[in-house]
Amino acid sequence: MRSSPLLLIALVAALFSQQSASRTIWLAGDHHESMTLDSLYCAEISPTTPMACGTRPDDWTPAFDLSNIDLGVWNEDRVKDAVRYPDDPVSELRFSNPVGLVRWLWNVGIGCKRMGKDADIQTGLRCSTHYGNLQFMHAMSSDVRTDATQTKSKIMAWIDFSLAVLQNHPNADGILFIQDIHCNYWTGQKDNNGNPIADLMVPNGEDEFPCVVNKGSPWFVGSLFAFRCNVNIYSCDVDMTPQHVRSNALGAILHLIQDSYSQGHALRGNCCANVPDHALAAYECAPITQFNVYGPQDKGRHGAADDVPVAGESCAQNSGVLDPVVAGAQVFWLLKHGGVAEENIASIAGMLNTQVFRLSDTALPSGKGAGF
Ligand SMILES: [Zn+2]
Repeated sequence: MRSSPLLLIALVAALFSQQSASRTIWLAGDHHESMTLDSLYCAEISPTTPMACGTRPDDWTPAFDLSNIDLGVWNEDRVKDAVRYPDDPVSELRFSNPVGLVRWLWNVGIGCKRMGKDADIQTGLRCSTHYGNLQFMHAMSSDVRTDATQTKSKIMAWIDFSLAVLQNHPNADGILFIQDIHCNYWTGQKDNNGNPIADLMVPNGEDEFPCVVNKGSPWFVGSLFAFRCNVNIYSCDVDMTPQHVRSNALGAILHLIQDSYSQGHALRGNCCANVPDHALAAYECAPITQFNVYGPQDKGRHGAADDVPVAGESCAQNSGVLDPVVAGAQVFWLLKHGGVAEENIASIAGMLNTQVFRLSDTALPSGKGAGF
């Protein structure tokens, strides 16, 4: 079905008018996409693990070969699809899908706000990732006065999970990780490992959603990354092809790295109490001093910090914390040159733990963040 040009114009207008009212929207600025392309370019031209990244030429056409880990060749479209995942976790935000577009706008602009921070996986991925208890996917805390180490442990658990999806090893019965049953896996994580996000993945036990669903099969481990919601809100398509699921897992990691340098998400360095709006999007390569909470923030200030990212002065020094583009480039480079072998995956997780999500010794519990 083709949508009329008028409807499309109305939708675009609605989208942009939502910008200040809701979470930053990719259509209003392709920051995640361009940072990821910068990382891709840097990884492509680096003979060794990238430690600094030059400027991506305008005429460079991305074609980053990740076929060694069965992810094919990453062109611009693949980058966009993957890195948008945390903003559009059920993949409904497309101009070819006007119903989904309107639904996303409604939810993120109005519907989800009503649920606020109580939104969880039962109320859906759209609301819980934007306003509820899955905001660690955007390097934020969902509640005030949460210890920074707690938020970081959720972030690292999400990274470890995404890396395991990328590995997709078979279990003892020969079932690939992403095809294992979501609730079996997460219940096991709760019982055996005390995984800090296990409760959020199975919030109400094994007799409730998503362990039991009205239609179709219960969730698989890979379902979190598999939805494609078009017209019908309750019966989304599920694309469980390993390449799709695993690409979104990789995109989720890159998005999380990038978000963590936006001062509205997590504070780093000397920011932001007296910093004017136009300078808020400068990021710092310094340890995290506080994870922010979106609810109590000034939404205009949060949006200003999410504007075109510019490296601050600390990123030119060797601070021990990587620039987000370099960190992304290292992820791509290591995957291309070391694959998903255990040791290499451990290096990626270790790098993210110590050189991206490093906490300041004096990190404060979560709050709206000074200047927000
Ligand atoms: Zn985000």
